[in-house]
Amino acid sequence: MDAQVGVIGLGAAGSAALWRTAARGAEVIGFEQFGSGHDRGSSHGYSRVFKSVTPQGPQESALAQRAAGLWRELEEESGESVLHMTGGLSIGKPDSPLIAGLEKVAAETGLPLEYLDEDEVRRRFPQHVVTAGDIAVIDPASGYIQPELAIRTEWKLAQAHGARVVDAAVLEVIPQDESVLIVTAERTYEVGTAIVAAGAWQRQLLPFLPLELTPRRATLSWFAPKPGKEALFTPEAFPAFTHEAVGETGWGLPEFDEFRVKIGLDFTEGYEIVDPSANRKEVEDWELARVRAFVAETLPDLDPVPVHSGGCMITMTPDEEFTIGIPAEHPRLVVLSACSGRGFKMSAAVGDVGAELALTGTSEADLSIFSPDRFANETISIGATK
Ligand SMILES: Cc1cc2nc3c(=O)[nH]c(=O)nc-3n(C[C@H](O)[C@H](O)[C@H](O)COP(=O)(O)OP(=O)(O)OC[C@H]3O[C@@H](n4cnc5c(N)ncnc54)[C@H](O)[C@@H]3O)c2cc1C
Repeated sequence: MDAQVGVIGLGAAGSAALWRTAARGAEVIGFEQFGSGHDRGSSHGYSRVFKSVTPQGPQESALAQRAAGLWRELEEESGESVLHMTGGLSIGKPDSPLIAGLEKVAAETGLPLEYLDEDEVRRRFPQHVVTAGDIAVIDPASGYIQPELAIRTEWKLAQAHGARVVDAAVLEVIPQDESVLIVTAERTYEVGTAIVAAGAWQRQLLPFLPLELTPRRATLSWFAPKPGKEALFTPEAFPAFTHEAVGETGWGLPEFDEFRVKIGLDFTEGYEIVDPSANRKEVEDWELARVRAFVAETLPDLDPVPVHSGGCMITMTPDEEFTIGIPAEHPRLVVLSACSGRGFKMSAAVGDVGAELALTGTSEADLSIFSPDRFANETISIGATK
């Protein structure tokens, strides 16, 4: 046996699983095809929105809160600063999925929210165009997280706890009765349990499981404040936001680095990516038309022509939920897929749960809605926001 646990794919979920497994004192090997903090999967782009209450439901909010504690533990252990709390501003109509969803989850979990009426939003956040009847909700425990730095730090801490990293593509994962074989071009490794966290490549590695995972094209874009408007977009003045307006759910982060103000759309209908390794880094003009229109109409103090952009991928399930668990037919595997365009914030917790599942076969987290077997017989469809 080469190790107690193998982790395949060291992006957001896998790097966290590597760190959390090693931190529990287990012998673990990680496998990554493109190196640490690379820009070819779903986890690059220098920032991700962090929210402690998510409109999707209490299970995701519980993971986000568990992750917040783990991000702080990562920071304390490493001396790095990865999670920056700017507060989170959600703007929309009171009965919109965004606002109603947040209210419901906050009521269920007891998390504090601050409410602003339309006039108050205009006064405190003049950067945003609000329309009649809009309200805003502030979640004080929100902000942004730096993904590449977080992943690199997880590798470092995992290795300090004794984890090994193999710089290779895994060609095949073969579950057996008492172990799992992990095949690379160089050699085959044997581990007690394998955590598979291969993001957009997951279905290629696990063709024998009833997973419904579709990688889709997504884009990243950054915008500059118009001359004289820079002070409106600092982290102090412009919290991380989500805004339902002009038929879109837009989101954004303040200017904290040379890339400027990051704005995106919760857009899950990008074209299907058949070969994730061939996803384009470059972005064509037509791909940015909707985010440019959103910026022009709702953030008039930004220049609507992006100063930077890049290609990315999200991995969708039919119900837009994560896939976290041990498949019934293969008890030596743990499947971790936390994407659907909003999983970075929870990834520390997803990795922690993955480590628990791999080492004990169970977790105290409520994983019922994330079961890897839920598409074995049927598919369902619901809406979702970041
Ligand atoms: C444009 C965009 C914006 C987003 N915004 C937010 C946000 O604001 N907030 C938020 O919380 N989330 C956000 N997300 C979602 C979040 O980034 C993802 O949920 C998360 O990064 C997914 O991580 P992952 O570990 O599943 O995939 P990845 O990070 O892609 O990791 C998979 C890893 O597996 C490796 N791998 C695959 N196959 C193999 C193999 N055969 N052998 C070895 N290695 C392999 C890959 O190289 C990769 O490193 C956004 C996503 C996108 C694309």
